[in-house]
Amino acid sequence: MPVQEPVDAAQRRSAKPVVVYPPETLPPPDLSLVERVRANLIKIGEVLVPPREARTFRVPRAHIFRIVSVEGPQVGDLNLWSADDLTERFFSGKTRALHGTHVTSGARLWSALPFMRSMATISSDSLGWYGFDADGGGIHDVIGTRCDPYTNRLLSGGDYHHCCHSNLTRALADEKNMPVKDAEMHVHDVLNVFMCTGFTRDTHQYFMKASPVRPGDFIEFVADIDLLGALSACPGGDCSASHSSDAAKCHPLLVEIYRPAQDFIDAWPVSPRSQYPRTHGC
Ligand SMILES: [Zn+2]
Repeated sequence: MPVQEPVDAAQRRSAKPVVVYPPETLPPPDLSLVERVRANLIKIGEVLVPPREARTFRVPRAHIFRIVSVEGPQVGDLNLWSADDLTERFFSGKTRALHGTHVTSGARLWSALPFMRSMATISSDSLGWYGFDADGGGIHDVIGTRCDPYTNRLLSGGDYHHCCHSNLTRALADEKNMPVKDAEMHVHDVLNVFMCTGFTRDTHQYFMKASPVRPGDFIEFVADIDLLGALSACPGGDCSASHSSDAAKCHPLLVEIYRPAQDFIDAWPVSPRSQYPRTHGC
Protein backbone atom coordinates (compact mmCIF):
# COMPACT_ATOMS: atom_id res chain seq x y z
CA MET A 1 0.00 0.00 0.00
CA PRO A 2 1.55 3.34 -0.97
CA VAL A 3 2.26 5.59 1.98
CA GLN A 4 1.81 9.35 1.77
CA GLU A 5 3.48 11.89 3.98
CA PRO A 6 1.16 13.49 6.50
CA VAL A 7 0.61 17.23 6.10
CA ASP A 8 2.63 17.90 9.26
CA ALA A 9 5.60 15.71 8.19
CA ALA A 10 8.05 18.63 8.24
CA GLN A 11 6.97 19.65 11.72
CA ARG A 12 7.32 16.08 13.01
CA ARG A 13 10.81 15.79 11.51
CA SER A 14 11.90 19.06 13.08
CA ALA A 15 11.95 17.67 16.64
CA LYS A 16 15.33 18.31 18.25
CA PRO A 17 17.68 15.32 18.72
CA VAL A 18 18.63 14.44 22.28
CA VAL A 19 21.74 12.40 23.13
CA VAL A 20 20.39 9.09 24.42
CA TYR A 21 23.17 8.26 26.88
CA PRO A 22 25.07 11.43 27.82
CA PRO A 23 28.21 9.97 29.49
CA GLU A 24 29.16 13.19 31.31
CA THR A 25 28.18 11.77 34.71
CA LEU A 26 31.02 9.24 34.37
CA PRO A 27 34.37 10.38 35.78
CA PRO A 28 36.75 10.75 32.81
CA PRO A 29 39.77 8.44 32.87
CA ASP A 30 42.91 10.10 34.22
CA LEU A 31 45.13 9.54 31.18
CA SER A 32 47.85 11.73 32.70
CA LEU A 33 48.63 8.71 34.92
CA VAL A 34 49.46 6.75 31.77
CA GLU A 35 51.56 9.58 30.34
CA ARG A 36 53.68 9.55 33.50
CA VAL A 37 54.48 5.81 33.33
CA ARG A 38 54.68 5.29 29.58
CA ALA A 39 58.43 5.86 29.37
CA ASN A 40 59.12 3.13 31.94
CA LEU A 41 56.84 0.32 30.85
CA ILE A 42 58.25 -3.20 30.97
CA LYS A 43 57.17 -5.44 28.11
CA ILE A 44 55.97 -8.74 29.59
CA GLY A 45 54.60 -10.36 26.46
CA GLU A 46 53.83 -10.06 22.80
CA VAL A 47 51.69 -12.04 20.40
CA LEU A 48 52.04 -11.90 16.62
CA VAL A 49 48.70 -12.51 14.93
CA PRO A 50 49.26 -14.05 11.49
CA PRO A 51 47.24 -12.81 8.51
CA ARG A 52 43.77 -14.42 8.26
CA GLU A 53 44.19 -15.97 11.71
CA ALA A 54 43.49 -14.99 15.32
CA ARG A 55 45.42 -15.35 18.55
CA THR A 56 44.51 -14.92 22.21
CA PHE A 57 46.35 -12.91 24.86
CA ARG A 58 45.98 -12.13 28.55
CA VAL A 59 46.38 -8.77 30.27
CA PRO A 60 46.28 -8.33 34.07
CA ARG A 61 44.28 -5.42 35.54
CA ALA A 62 45.98 -2.02 35.31
CA HIS A 63 48.44 -3.32 32.74
CA ILE A 64 48.74 -1.78 29.31
CA PHE A 65 48.38 -3.41 25.91
CA ARG A 66 48.92 -2.11 22.41
CA ILE A 67 47.72 -3.40 19.06
CA VAL A 68 50.38 -2.43 16.54
CA SER A 69 50.37 -2.35 12.75
CA VAL A 70 53.39 -4.17 11.32
CA GLU A 71 54.46 -4.74 7.71
CA GLY A 72 51.40 -3.19 6.06
CA PRO A 73 47.89 -1.79 6.44
CA GLN A 74 45.70 -4.30 8.24
CA VAL A 75 42.41 -4.27 10.13
CA GLY A 76 41.90 -6.27 13.34
CA ASP A 77 38.77 -7.66 14.99
CA LEU A 78 39.01 -7.59 18.81
CA ASN A 79 37.07 -9.67 21.34
CA LEU A 80 37.47 -9.23 25.11
CA TRP A 81 36.33 -11.39 28.02
CA SER A 82 36.79 -11.26 31.76
CA ALA A 83 39.83 -13.49 32.24
CA ASP A 84 38.04 -15.92 34.55
CA ASP A 85 34.45 -15.72 33.24
CA LEU A 86 33.61 -15.99 29.54
CA THR A 87 30.02 -14.89 30.19
CA GLU A 88 31.32 -11.37 30.84
CA ARG A 89 32.26 -10.11 27.41
CA PHE A 90 32.66 -6.88 25.47
CA PHE A 91 29.37 -5.07 24.72
CA SER A 92 29.88 -3.34 21.38
CA GLY A 93 26.33 -1.96 21.25
CA LYS A 94 26.41 -0.19 24.61
CA THR A 95 29.94 1.05 23.99
CA ARG A 96 28.57 2.62 20.79
CA ALA A 97 25.58 4.08 22.65
CA LEU A 98 27.87 5.68 25.22
CA HIS A 99 30.86 6.79 23.15
CA GLY A 100 29.64 6.98 19.53
CA THR A 101 30.20 4.88 16.43
CA HIS A 102 34.01 5.14 16.54
CA VAL A 103 36.26 5.15 19.62
CA THR A 104 39.57 6.76 20.43
CA SER A 105 41.58 7.93 23.49
CA GLY A 106 39.40 8.38 26.56
CA ALA A 107 36.68 5.94 25.52
CA ARG A 108 36.00 2.85 27.59
CA LEU A 109 35.09 -0.61 26.36
CA TRP A 110 32.09 -1.86 28.37
CA SER A 111 31.04 -5.37 29.31
CA ALA A 112 27.66 -6.92 28.64
CA LEU A 113 24.67 -6.90 31.00
CA PRO A 114 24.35 -7.66 33.84
CA PHE A 115 28.03 -6.88 34.48
CA MET A 116 28.17 -3.46 32.78
CA ARG A 117 31.59 -2.22 33.77
CA SER A 118 34.56 -0.83 31.95
CA MET A 119 36.80 -3.66 30.69
CA ALA A 120 39.45 -1.43 29.11
CA THR A 121 40.17 2.25 28.58
CA ILE A 122 41.74 3.55 25.38
CA SER A 123 44.79 5.50 26.52
CA SER A 124 46.43 6.39 23.19
CA ASP A 125 45.58 6.18 19.50
CA SER A 126 48.10 7.11 16.81
CA LEU A 127 45.18 7.50 14.35
CA GLY A 128 43.38 9.92 16.66
CA TRP A 129 44.15 12.70 14.16
CA TYR A 130 41.82 11.14 11.54
CA GLY A 131 38.50 12.24 13.01
CA PHE A 132 35.69 11.93 10.47
CA ASP A 133 36.49 12.28 6.77
CA ALA A 134 34.37 13.79 3.97
CA ASP A 135 32.54 10.46 3.49
CA GLY A 136 31.66 10.33 7.18
CA GLY A 137 34.24 7.59 7.73
CA GLY A 138 36.06 7.20 11.04
CA ILE A 139 38.50 4.72 12.61
CA HIS A 140 38.05 1.93 15.20
CA ASP A 141 34.31 1.34 14.83
CA VAL A 142 31.86 -0.36 17.14
CA ILE A 143 29.27 -0.63 14.34
CA GLY A 144 30.27 -3.72 12.42
CA THR A 145 29.85 -7.16 13.88
CA ARG A 146 32.74 -9.20 12.38
CA CYS A 147 33.00 -10.98 9.05
CA ASP A 148 31.46 -14.43 9.38
CA PRO A 149 30.85 -17.52 7.25
CA TYR A 150 27.08 -17.44 7.74
CA THR A 151 26.53 -14.02 6.16
CA ASN A 152 29.09 -14.92 3.50
CA ARG A 153 27.16 -18.08 2.59
CA LEU A 154 23.88 -16.14 2.63
CA LEU A 155 25.16 -13.49 0.22
CA SER A 156 27.65 -15.41 -1.96
CA GLY A 157 26.62 -19.05 -1.61
CA GLY A 158 30.22 -20.09 -0.91
CA ASP A 159 32.04 -21.19 2.21
CA TYR A 160 35.09 -19.41 3.58
CA HIS A 161 36.77 -20.55 6.79
CA HIS A 162 39.04 -17.60 7.64
CA CYS A 163 36.42 -14.98 8.45
CA CYS A 164 37.15 -13.18 11.74
CA HIS A 165 34.28 -15.05 13.41
CA SER A 166 35.90 -18.39 12.55
CA ASN A 167 39.41 -17.18 13.40
CA LEU A 168 38.26 -15.93 16.82
CA THR A 169 36.36 -19.17 17.41
CA ARG A 170 39.38 -21.38 16.68
CA ALA A 171 41.68 -19.17 18.79
CA LEU A 172 39.33 -19.30 21.79
CA ALA A 173 38.88 -23.06 21.39
CA ASP A 174 42.67 -23.47 21.48
CA GLU A 175 43.03 -21.15 24.49
CA LYS A 176 40.33 -22.84 26.56
CA ASN A 177 40.85 -26.35 25.16
CA MET A 178 37.14 -26.52 24.38
CA PRO A 179 35.25 -27.79 21.30
CA VAL A 180 34.99 -25.28 18.47
CA LYS A 181 31.18 -25.39 18.64
CA ASP A 182 31.29 -24.40 22.32
CA ALA A 183 33.89 -21.69 21.80
CA GLU A 184 31.82 -20.18 18.99
CA MET A 185 29.03 -19.28 21.41
CA HIS A 186 31.41 -16.95 23.27
CA VAL A 187 32.54 -14.99 20.21
CA HIS A 188 30.81 -11.62 20.05
CA ASP A 189 30.57 -8.30 18.22
CA VAL A 190 33.99 -6.73 17.95
CA LEU A 191 35.90 -3.52 18.15
CA ASN A 192 37.06 -3.05 14.57
CA VAL A 193 40.63 -1.91 15.22
CA PHE A 194 42.11 0.35 12.49
CA MET A 195 39.06 -0.17 10.23
CA CYS A 196 37.73 2.93 8.41
CA THR A 197 33.95 2.78 8.23
CA GLY A 198 30.81 4.84 8.24
CA PHE A 199 27.29 5.03 6.88
CA THR A 200 26.56 6.14 3.33
CA ARG A 201 24.92 9.57 3.22
CA ASP A 202 21.95 8.54 1.10
CA THR A 203 20.94 5.10 2.35
CA HIS A 204 22.82 4.97 5.67
CA GLN A 205 24.39 1.63 4.74
CA TYR A 206 27.50 0.44 6.51
CA PHE A 207 30.55 1.12 4.33
CA MET A 208 34.27 0.49 4.57
CA LYS A 209 37.17 2.20 2.82
CA ALA A 210 40.94 1.73 2.79
CA SER A 211 42.28 2.01 6.31
CA PRO A 212 44.78 4.87 6.81
CA VAL A 213 46.78 2.66 9.21
CA ARG A 214 50.48 2.30 8.42
CA PRO A 215 53.24 0.22 10.03
CA GLY A 216 54.04 1.70 13.44
CA ASP A 217 50.51 2.91 14.10
CA PHE A 218 48.96 1.58 17.29
CA ILE A 219 46.02 1.78 19.62
CA GLU A 220 46.78 1.47 23.33
CA PHE A 221 44.55 0.33 26.19
CA VAL A 222 44.69 0.07 29.96
CA ALA A 223 43.03 -3.15 31.16
CA ASP A 224 40.44 -2.14 33.76
CA ILE A 225 39.96 -5.80 34.78
CA ASP A 226 41.94 -9.00 34.21
CA LEU A 227 41.35 -9.66 30.52
CA LEU A 228 41.39 -12.47 28.03
CA GLY A 229 41.54 -11.00 24.53
CA ALA A 230 41.44 -12.41 21.03
CA LEU A 231 42.47 -10.53 17.92
CA SER A 232 41.84 -11.59 14.31
CA ALA A 233 43.85 -10.17 11.41
CA CYS A 234 40.84 -9.74 9.12
CA PRO A 235 40.92 -11.44 5.70
CA GLY A 236 39.84 -8.06 4.32
CA GLY A 237 43.38 -6.70 4.90
CA ASP A 238 43.02 -2.91 4.83
CA CYS A 239 39.32 -3.46 3.98
CA SER A 240 39.56 -1.28 0.87
CA ALA A 241 37.65 -3.65 -1.41
CA SER A 242 36.57 -7.03 -0.08
CA HIS A 243 36.53 -9.41 2.85
CA SER A 244 35.51 -13.02 3.53
CA SER A 245 37.89 -14.30 0.84
CA ASP A 246 41.60 -14.67 0.06
CA ALA A 247 41.44 -11.77 -2.44
CA ALA A 248 42.83 -8.98 -0.23
CA LYS A 249 46.49 -8.52 0.66
CA CYS A 250 46.84 -9.22 4.38
CA HIS A 251 49.46 -8.50 7.03
CA PRO A 252 50.09 -9.60 10.62
CA LEU A 253 49.19 -7.54 13.68
CA LEU A 254 51.21 -7.37 16.88
CA VAL A 255 49.80 -7.31 20.42
CA GLU A 256 52.24 -5.98 23.04
CA ILE A 257 51.59 -6.31 26.77
CA TYR A 258 53.31 -4.04 29.28
CA ARG A 259 53.63 -3.89 33.06
CA PRO A 260 53.67 -0.33 34.46
CA ALA A 261 55.19 0.74 37.77
CA GLN A 262 53.45 -0.60 40.88
CA ASP A 263 52.24 2.86 41.96
CA PHE A 264 50.32 3.11 38.68
CA ILE A 265 48.75 -0.31 39.28
CA ASP A 266 47.74 0.83 42.77
CA ALA A 267 46.40 4.17 41.52
CA TRP A 268 44.41 2.92 38.51
CA PRO A 269 40.73 2.70 39.58
CA VAL A 270 39.21 -0.70 40.28
CA SER A 271 36.29 -1.40 37.92
CA PRO A 272 33.55 -3.17 39.89
CA ARG A 273 30.69 -5.06 38.27
CA SER A 274 27.39 -3.15 38.30
CA GLN A 275 25.82 -2.98 41.73
CA TYR A 276 22.28 -3.07 40.35
CA PRO A 277 20.60 -5.82 42.42
CA ARG A 278 18.96 -7.51 39.40
CA THR A 279 15.54 -7.59 41.05
CA HIS A 280 13.93 -5.91 38.03
CA GLY A 281 11.14 -4.76 40.30
CA CYS A 282 10.20 -8.28 41.40
ZN1 LIG B 1 37.04 -9.70 9.39
